[in-house]
Amino acid sequence: MAQDKLSEDERLLEGAVKAADQTRLVRVGRGLRHEAVSAFEELFGRSPAVIVADGNTFAAAGRDVVDSFRQAGHACLEPYVFDLPDLHAEYPHVETVERFLASADAIPVAVGSGTINDMTKLASHHLGRPYLCVATAASMDGYTAFGASITREGSKQTFNCPAPKGVVADLEVIEAAPEGMNASGYADLLAKIVAGADWLVAEALKVEPVDATAWEMMHSRLRTWVGNPDGIRHGDSEAVHCLILGLLVSGLAMQWTRTSRVASGADHQFSHLWDMQNHVHNGRAPSHGFKVGIGTLASSALYERLFTQALDELDADSLAARWPELDSIEADIRARFDLPELTAKALEETEAKYVDRDAIREQLLQVRAVWPALRERLQAHLVSFDELTDCLTAAGCPVRPEQIGISPARLRESYRQAYCIRRRFTILDLAARTQLFEPALEEIFSPHGRWPIDSSDGSHTG
Ligand SMILES: [Zn+2]
Repeated sequence: MAQDKLSEDERLLEGAVKAADQTRLVRVGRGLRHEAVSAFEELFGRSPAVIVADGNTFAAAGRDVVDSFRQAGHACLEPYVFDLPDLHAEYPHVETVERFLASADAIPVAVGSGTINDMTKLASHHLGRPYLCVATAASMDGYTAFGASITREGSKQTFNCPAPKGVVADLEVIEAAPEGMNASGYADLLAKIVAGADWLVAEALKVEPVDATAWEMMHSRLRTWVGNPDGIRHGDSEAVHCLILGLLVSGLAMQWTRTSRVASGADHQFSHLWDMQNHVHNGRAPSHGFKVGIGTLASSALYERLFTQALDELDADSLAARWPELDSIEADIRARFDLPELTAKALEETEAKYVDRDAIREQLLQVRAVWPALRERLQAHLVSFDELTDCLTAAGCPVRPEQIGISPARLRESYRQAYCIRRRFTILDLAARTQLFEPALEEIFSPHGRWPIDSSDGSHTG
């Protein structure tokens, strides 16, 4: 049985690699760090290699990767190993890697997780070189994704750059990843469920069609991949295997569609918002996956509120008549954001997705027409808020916003802000356009709602 399941996954992964246009090779298995050289040679022949790692990832896998090259008689230059206690993907470090690589005539091999991969990805791109990644944790879906998430001048930005030519994921190393890392990747993968729902909404409202190939890649096995959260916490071999497969396929699906739509909806907008606000908790930024996990619950809570509404009975005319002009929305944004870059971003994105009253009326008529079928489709696709909470808890992820330093009052405000910072059509847009956003938030944060707001907690920006 387990054999069948894996071979089905292997076929899916193979198809996803074929569909992707940047990554040519993905290998997942136990002990593969010792065979990194064979993946490298398949892609780059006998070109010399050079490893980029940090102290932890070098000890966990990098040293064995270097040995695999040396034993094969394959030129492998002296590695670059970061020696910093708390390494983050920051632009000056990218420049350090770039300077180092510029002096080394070799193809980079990034040995690490998000931080090392993203920094090597961008530095390699600047030098016009391809690279190989050896993944050391199932911590996020960025291994096979294009773009690198790097902090520059205090704000986290996504830089355009190609995905690696190849990824080798050694399950022995990943199973033993530091606490919280695989949990974080689990939340990033679980989020694809609500992200998928957002795509269904966008398609039903004729905003953005679903790409059938990407949908099949992402969703045909997703329930299985996220089906053993307990196993993630305990480093169970099969659970971790499923997790890393799902994360790698997410990145490949993004390569296929050339956008992140397949892997990111309102769930990720919360996380992006908190990144842009430079949110820290106990002195450090919570992991990407942990922020996305709370965003996933936030999205789910809103879906569940909207499911109680008879959107097939909307009064399109009167709602359209009350739809605000762009001027007043912009004034609201200026009042809602205090960081200048964030305000500018919110204005730009909101303007890009603004539609006038006629268009709103048309869209609301479409909502009316499709709602019963759409709701049914969404309910069949989604899992409940309670089940998501149970899965995240079992995997070892935070489920209350306070666990990542976000008060309920701030989360409430985050809904409104997250809605503004991206043009992508999500459940947040459906709530706004049906003018059910405020009533839904009232419920979600009421004393009997998901996250009651303590009336003494008036802080909206925390
Ligand atoms: Zn993500």
